[in-house]
Amino acid sequence: MPFSKLGLSESLTKAVNELGYSEPTTIQAKAIPVVLQGQNLIAAAQTGTGKTASFVLPILEKLSKGETKRKKRIRALILVPTRELAIQVEEKITQYGKHTGLTSLAMYGGVDEQQQKQRLIEGVDVLVATPGRLIDMYGRRAVYFEEVEMVVLDEADRMLDMGFIDDIEKILDRLPENIQFLLFSATLSRKVRDLAKSVVENPHEITIAANQASKSNIEQWLITVDKDKKSALLSHLIQEKQWDQALIFIETKHGAAKLVSQLEKRGIAAEAFHSGRSQAIRAQLLEDFKAGSIKYLIATGVAARGIDIEDLSRVVNYDLPFPADEYVHRIGRTGRANATGEAISFVSKDNFKNLCMIESRLGHLIERREVEGFAPKKPVPVTILNYVPKTKHVDQDPTDKPQKRANPGNRSNRNNTNNRKPRSASKAKPNTGNRTDGRKDSRQAVRKADK
Ligand code: AMP
Repeated sequence: MPFSKLGLSESLTKAVNELGYSEPTTIQAKAIPVVLQGQNLIAAAQTGTGKTASFVLPILEKLSKGETKRKKRIRALILVPTRELAIQVEEKITQYGKHTGLTSLAMYGGVDEQQQKQRLIEGVDVLVATPGRLIDMYGRRAVYFEEVEMVVLDEADRMLDMGFIDDIEKILDRLPENIQFLLFSATLSRKVRDLAKSVVENPHEITIAANQASKSNIEQWLITVDKDKKSALLSHLIQEKQWDQALIFIETKHGAAKLVSQLEKRGIAAEAFHSGRSQAIRAQLLEDFKAGSIKYLIATGVAARGIDIEDLSRVVNYDLPFPADEYVHRIGRTGRANATGEAISFVSKDNFKNLCMIESRLGHLIERREVEGFAPKKPVPVTILNYVPKTKHVDQDPTDKPQKRANPGNRSNRNNTNNRKPRSASKAKPNTGNRTDGRKDSRQAVRKADK
């Protein structure tokens, strides 16, 4: 089915054709008509499925029919968990919207805000923002929400995992009543559903099945190996198999730096990519990695969120991620939009439970391959599917009760054609510009995840 059949105008279909997209992906075919009809939507779709275009294209289509009225007033807001994702989504808006004349801006922390303020004054139709920076800018009256028509929570599960709930609620409380609400998440966990429920009733729901999401075009395999042999194994594979490129995920910043120097000693040049490096350096590293002048990028999970590299042939889980959904996110860095790729995980005995959880999440075992000379002294037992962990998992935490929203209905809902729920007036506290507990939580969560 061509894109034009989805109800998109020529300016947009021309742009996607120029990018070489011949037909919509599953999520695009399902979501675009729903969004164009003005319905609220929650969608379970992972990165790599083409989800960005599934909300960006109909947003651009709808906005291209009107125009920005006043400066500092945005018309669509896309909330994302990380600056990398903000940059990536905004790049897509620029690409898809190149024939529409619509404007966009990526707004995130860690960079000087003056330039972002100036762009808002000049006029921005679509703002892609991380929650913390947006709250700051709103408190400084750099941006106003009264003309917002559509809001997207992208990678909502990830934003909740990172502790952004308070910031997100503050933002949602300040949006107009009749906006169209779209939520995209790798999984529609209870927490994510509760968040959506607090905003809209009965949204349209789309789920891309787990087996589609875990992408058959990615060859997944693992090597069992003792912990202290991992760096030797990585060097061996890079050299023996002559890997052209690899994005290598590791747990900690310190670990990333150490691995870079271990590889260096074996004559392999690699770079570390983590939140301890400046935004400018990270941007440069990504550019070099995309261009192929850096072949091996050692990245912590948090930093690597949102990396979109065309034709990335390989990701390596040097450390196995937790929770299991993170595995799916990571391997989604390769095999983008139907290209093929491989995802290789190094698994030592102490990763056993984590591996069980990942395989249960995938619904299948990951093929084990042996590499001569690296058979572990401490073998990893045979795993089982449908493993139920004894320790609490983020989405299974019994203390994770739906949040009570005090005093709903204080705000008028009479004109709410989108079925959007009234937000609690008690939540809409004036913004003092001070850092809130939520911000602290967010930063602690990021620090924890990106040690
Ligand atoms: P996303 O899941 O939105 O991060 O997209 C993953 C990758 O797929 C990006 O590199 C997009 O440029 C690409 N992509 C999105 N839609 C299509 C399509 N219909 N055909 C081919 N590639 C696509």
